[in-house]
Amino acid sequence: MSEGLKVGDQSTSFDVVIVGAGNAGLCAALSASEQGSSVLVLEAAPESERGGNSRFTAGLLRIAYQDVEDLAQLIDLSEEEIQRTDFGSYKAEQFIDDMARVTEYRCDPDLTEVLVRESFPTAQWMRKKGVRFTAAWGRQAFKIDGRFKFWGGLTLEAVGGGPGLVDSLTTAASKNEIKIWYQARATSLIADDGGVQGVVVKHLGKTTRVRSRAVVLAAGGFQANTEWRTRYLGPGWELAKVRGTRFNTGDAIRMALDIGAAPAGNWSGCHAVAWERNAPEFGDLAVGDQFQKHSYPWGIYINAEGRRFLDEGADFRNYTYAKYGRIILNQPGQFAWQIFDAKVRNQLRDEYRIRQVTKVTANTLEELVGKLDDVDADTALKEIRVYNAAVRTDVAFNPNIKDGRCTEGLAINKSNWANTIDTPPFEAYAVTCGITFTFGGLRIDTGAQVISTDGEPIPGLYAAGELVGGIFWFNYPGGSGLTNGAVFGKIAGASAAARAARV
Ligand SMILES: Cc1cc2nc3c(=O)[nH]c(=O)nc-3n(C[C@H](O)[C@H](O)[C@H](O)COP(=O)(O)OP(=O)(O)OC[C@H]3O[C@@H](n4cnc5c(N)ncnc54)[C@H](O)[C@@H]3O)c2cc1C
Repeated sequence: MSEGLKVGDQSTSFDVVIVGAGNAGLCAALSASEQGSSVLVLEAAPESERGGNSRFTAGLLRIAYQDVEDLAQLIDLSEEEIQRTDFGSYKAEQFIDDMARVTEYRCDPDLTEVLVRESFPTAQWMRKKGVRFTAAWGRQAFKIDGRFKFWGGLTLEAVGGGPGLVDSLTTAASKNEIKIWYQARATSLIADDGGVQGVVVKHLGKTTRVRSRAVVLAAGGFQANTEWRTRYLGPGWELAKVRGTRFNTGDAIRMALDIGAAPAGNWSGCHAVAWERNAPEFGDLAVGDQFQKHSYPWGIYINAEGRRFLDEGADFRNYTYAKYGRIILNQPGQFAWQIFDAKVRNQLRDEYRIRQVTKVTANTLEELVGKLDDVDADTALKEIRVYNAAVRTDVAFNPNIKDGRCTEGLAINKSNWANTIDTPPFEAYAVTCGITFTFGGLRIDTGAQVISTDGEPIPGLYAAGELVGGIFWFNYPGGSGLTNGAVFGKIAGASAAARAARV
């Protein structure tokens, strides 16, 4: 199809160029390729660090499904697995409700509708492309009376987590003769009045112009760009740790804004979580997402002043974890300690058992507070005692539901799962804020085409994944990031291929 390209330098030309080889970019590439387009993917990272943020994930995807029969179309489930598991259902209406509620009713309704409606068929399509799925028994289900019960709408997991997902998509790309250039950082778009005609890229240190009929931007948010973080998220954000790739520095957002694309969404907002206090500046592929510390609903937080500062049990962790990083960043010294007692120790997630944790243990509360680095120990001890006295111990603790076991009479109450901290040994873990990805980005339509500041589609320019604005605001239902990238990546690839076939 490239022969008819009437755009100057023909030495390197493809129907479709994709910027970024994460989940969104690879889905876009596979989708464009199945429509017959020749496809080149530009990836800034070296091959050893390929896969973007997608590789750092647990591979959890939020999809709407009716029942176990739907899931069985995605996962090879044995009869025994079906017998011992209550998969429940996660209907499209629930997904829409979750999106609306956690984004405080700001999520773009059209894009959200597409995200939800296409979530299941897109997972089916990924499976056909070679991605293997399992159920997230380890992370999203609790065992009750010998049977696993899923909670929180998050059931589907790519086999091998994020690394497995990226490997499968990359293998599928190579089977489909999609070219991937590593160490190829796109620097600007080639555009004229007719729209986008290609990309300028620095590949292995050499600047090259790649011509194309359409470009899909899938290069992630700007979370790894300290200056932009501070500029857009606000003062203090340069102090956050980056949970994932160091390569998502907002390049593709800038490239699109430079040619008149409209910014959209929550530019001062981001996904940020409780993250190991002494974690490195950027993500470590060997540790993946294990620096996160997400069992706070079973314990309490204490800050440097020895005070609790948020409702640890406001909702299931899937609906609170992404906004609590910001609250931790706002604490004195940008850190906090999570405190648990022996009653809940066995319920702590795997990530609490890695070697790289800042952890203290003690047999008395007095000893524990003395070991919490940088904390006012006297106030912390009083705070824990006041908290213990406020727990409604008459209500049964049940981790599978919002159990209503709350505290009463505190300045900041805990709404669910309030357990007293009274059974030794006690454990505490130091956390800071880890930023996952930024929410602000480019405006797209439901065909994933980038919209200009004049409100018109920019010919030949499409976008998908983290760098799209308008979908997530303030918070995020866990597992929606990969689904978002896959759904809009697939759409962007198809739209780009259709454009390539037309021009
Ligand atoms: C630790 C962690 C755990 C997570 N867990 C989950 C989870 O379980 N489920 C879930 O749904 N989401 C999860 N997320 C969020 C999820 O990773 C993202 O929402 C999703 O992967 C974004 O996909 P993407 O393709 O848009 O971006 P990415 O996967 O980050 O891909 C973008 C790619 O673009 C490349 N790039 C950047 N600039 C350029 C340039 N100028 N030229 C060329 N290439 C460039 C980058 O190197 C990168 O490879 C997690 C994130 C992190 C960090």
